[in-house]
Amino acid sequence: MIGLGYMEVPILSKDQIETESYKVMAAYDPSLIEEPAEVDIEHLIEQYFKLNVDYQVLSKQDDDILGLIAITGGALTVFDRSTLEKRRIEVAPQTVIIDERLAMSDSQIGRFRFTIAHEASHWHLHRFYCEDENQTKLFADQDATAIKCFSRNIERRFASSFSDKSPLDWLEWQADYMASTLLMPAKSFKTAFQSLSPSSRIYNPQDNECQRIITSLANLFKVSKQAARIRLLHLGLFKNMHSGQTSFL
Ligand SMILES: [Zn+2]
Repeated sequence: MIGLGYMEVPILSKDQIETESYKVMAAYDPSLIEEPAEVDIEHLIEQYFKLNVDYQVLSKQDDDILGLIAITGGALTVFDRSTLEKRRIEVAPQTVIIDERLAMSDSQIGRFRFTIAHEASHWHLHRFYCEDENQTKLFADQDATAIKCFSRNIERRFASSFSDKSPLDWLEWQADYMASTLLMPAKSFKTAFQSLSPSSRIYNPQDNECQRIITSLANLFKVSKQAARIRLLHLGLFKNMHSGQTSFL
């Protein structure tokens, strides 16, 4: 455990998170473990995780807070979509709220899907750490206990090093990592990669072949190119161009 003032967060390795995700997929739809396909993430979180999904304007700044998971029910502050005035809403327990601007953007469909998977991952990995009322104050400035997820923490925190992470960063890293495993299960992702490229290669953003592979995988799994690129590096399918080794991401 990592101490976080009056709360603690769990330490989870990448392998442990892969295992958690594998168990989810085995229970939900085992074919997704083997066969490269787009995961219906909205169906998964409603049917498997039993989470409610809602869409609201979550911040004044577009692209600031992308999503949140309300662990308990209660009041939350959101923004009116036309005036951007604050307003309070009542949410049921186990509710994921996605910023509706993200939800409505066709160009950000990959990021939208990743944010849903990220919130479901918080629920799966972290809800028990939010049930103690003394601990929830860390996350909640409202009545409902909620983890709010900022744009800067979704799909982007993969690349930071061990040393500069706060305990809260660890929660975000874990939710991001699990989101990537739900949307791109390891075995099916490797299968898809091998059909596109017979061997691992050095990642070089200038390499057209690398870009072709990333684009194909992003389209197949309906994720952003950023998410597909990072998953390739995590799984060691692309080697880091500087060291020739797969570095920690
Ligand atoms: Zn988060």
